Amino acid sequence: MAGFNHHAELMGQNKFQEILASEGVEFLESASKKVPRTAIEGKTICLFFSASWCRPCKAFTPNLIQLYNSLKTNGEKLEIIFISSDGDEKTYKEHLETMPWLAVPFNLNLYRRLAHLFTIDHIPALIPLNCNGKHVEDDAITLVEDYGADAFPFTRERRDELRAMDERKRRGCRIEELLAHPERDYIISRDGKKILVSELVGKTIGLYFGAHWCPPARNFTTQLIEAHMELVTILNQPFEVIFISTDRDHDEFICSLSSMPWPAIPYEDKTRQDLKRIFEIKGIPTLILIGPDGKIISTSGRAMISLYGAMAFPFTEPRIAGIEATLRKEGERFPRKVQDPKHIHELKLDMAKAYVCDACRKQGRFWTFSCDVCDYDLHPRCVEETF
Ligand SMILES: [Zn+2]
Ligand SMILES: [Zn+2]
Repeated sequence: MAGFNHHAELMGQNKFQEILASEGVEFLESASKKVPRTAIEGKTICLFFSASWCRPCKAFTPNLIQLYNSLKTNGEKLEIIFISSDGDEKTYKEHLETMPWLAVPFNLNLYRRLAHLFTIDHIPALIPLNCNGKHVEDDAITLVEDYGADAFPFTRERRDELRAMDERKRRGCRIEELLAHPERDYIISRDGKKILVSELVGKTIGLYFGAHWCPPARNFTTQLIEAHMELVTILNQPFEVIFISTDRDHDEFICSLSSMPWPAIPYEDKTRQDLKRIFEIKGIPTLILIGPDGKIISTSGRAMISLYGAMAFPFTEPRIAGIEATLRKEGERFPRKVQDPKHIHELKLDMAKAYVCDACRKQGRFWTFSCDVCDYDLHPRCVEETF
């Protein structure tokens, strides 16, 4: 069956120890010390296949170091063992200097045997070793990328548990569970103020995934600010937007947030990643709308805001259907074409997200009479013909 874990069945820690013994390896080493290979018994062991020339390894290793340090601090019995495919021993030594965990001494023959045994066809690979008959992930890289230290102890059971938690949050949960955690019960505003997540209870929430480097996102930010201003400042509606940054670094994040009237999840907080994963965010800008009951109202908040602005509130299907029905009805009252004395060409009935009326110079949206030949628009009410 697909996904059946043959490693867990066949290759536990015993097998690993056996191979080390057969290669005459009695010690594992770190940058600073040597330990007998049997010293790792009773711990959760992960073999880390990596090389310093490998770019994906370089990108992944900092995540793993963070996980390792935080689990060690919590007293978890974890050991990671680096299996090097670096080109030579000197490079291996330099590479090991950057890692806080143990390694098998540099030995390409040993590398080949282990890589063959664990069917390593790409690096980085993080192979948890079966212990006490528990099923473990074949390769824990994705699990670690998705969940960080929460992935420990890298078993199938733990993976299923984490996925089930995501699923539960996706289906709806308390806003505190979604946006806060035991170490952080607040979000931050652009002036650095802390806002308690509990203050959001009862509101309709827009989770806004965006970034400063992305022009469509910057564009959408402007539209969202307009709708937010109307809903929150003018109409006093129970609505709030939370910025979930996908900026490349903290400076860019500050740059993004400084233009926004709503709060954000702190940049360094892992909840940003969690929310991206839970709501399966594939691109930006994306606006996920969540109701006061914690359930998703819509994942197409971006389209709703760009089309209807503040009118779309509270973003429910009946609300949008109502707006569309009203617009249709309104449109039925208008002729398809008019000839207006203010303009030489014939004007056609059209639908536009936003335009400026060439008669009264005011903004318009939705129905317009516009010219096919030149950039000319009239509000239906500014056309000098009665219908
Ligand atoms: Zn007008
Ligand atoms: Zn014209």
